[in-house]
Amino acid sequence: MSERLFKCPLCKNGNILNHSLVKDYAVSQKEFTLCRCENCELLFTNPRPKEEEIGPFYDFKEYYSHEDKVQNFTQWVYQRIRNYSIQKKVTLIHKLSKGRTLLDYGCGTGEFLQEANKQKWIVQGIEPSEKARGQALAKLPNQIVTSLEELPTNETYDVITLFHVLEHIHKLRKTLKIIINRLKSNGYLIIAVPNPLSEDAKYYRNYWAGYDVPRHLYHFSKKSIAVLQEEFNLELAETKPMIFDSYYVSLLSENYRHPNQSQFSRYWKAFIQGFRSNRKALIPGDYSSNIFIFKKK
Ligand SMILES: [Zn+2]
Repeated sequence: MSERLFKCPLCKNGNILNHSLVKDYAVSQKEFTLCRCENCELLFTNPRPKEEEIGPFYDFKEYYSHEDKVQNFTQWVYQRIRNYSIQKKVTLIHKLSKGRTLLDYGCGTGEFLQEANKQKWIVQGIEPSEKARGQALAKLPNQIVTSLEELPTNETYDVITLFHVLEHIHKLRKTLKIIINRLKSNGYLIIAVPNPLSEDAKYYRNYWAGYDVPRHLYHFSKKSIAVLQEEFNLELAETKPMIFDSYYVSLLSENYRHPNQSQFSRYWKAFIQGFRSNRKALIPGDYSSNIFIFKKK
């Protein structure tokens, strides 16, 4: 049912070792093994559910990024932060690129694309989840497709974004190659991923919500990102922190670690830990989640 990898899905090195056992607290309550590549430090779920079998692991009410409606306080907080983050993302791409064509891979319900579109970007989204895609299409008819294969032929983009998406993609190398082919020369590839060496990851250890197995298939250290850059002939132009992620990830991790504590206690501890995590992250790259901005060589 599941597939076992015998080499690193990022650098293809065969020197991989078992690293830790992590539980899926959000959905299945099953345990998964993380392996570590001794060459590039990538952590990856191994064995892992096959691409065609992973659907049920996404099947839970509170997969926030796919929900527009607010059902509880945590989601309300999440949405406030999301709205702020959308503005920040659009500002970021505006500053980076003079060109105005944007591809957002894993666009979810499409808020970021919608905002970019309002600010004169020609936008294209890819979203495999049917439910989320439906909501995105309601905002941007004809501009959202299901997969890379369905993109308009020969179209290339000034900016391609993957915000918390790369860690979900089974065909990692193949997908990266196709994406980079779709990038204009001197275009920007923006990848945001959780950081398994962040302070909140170290503090919560196996309870760290950034692991999110088996939906997250990979965890990239700074070294892994450096190897990615080499392997795909990119240039890392800049690294930026996502400061709100440490609070959000800490809150989820508190829920996993002490499911019976009061809501107040949960929020208070998550706030403290999120703050500590950000304070300890002195340089970009040490934060709970990072945005890596690559330039195509
Ligand atoms: Zn590797």
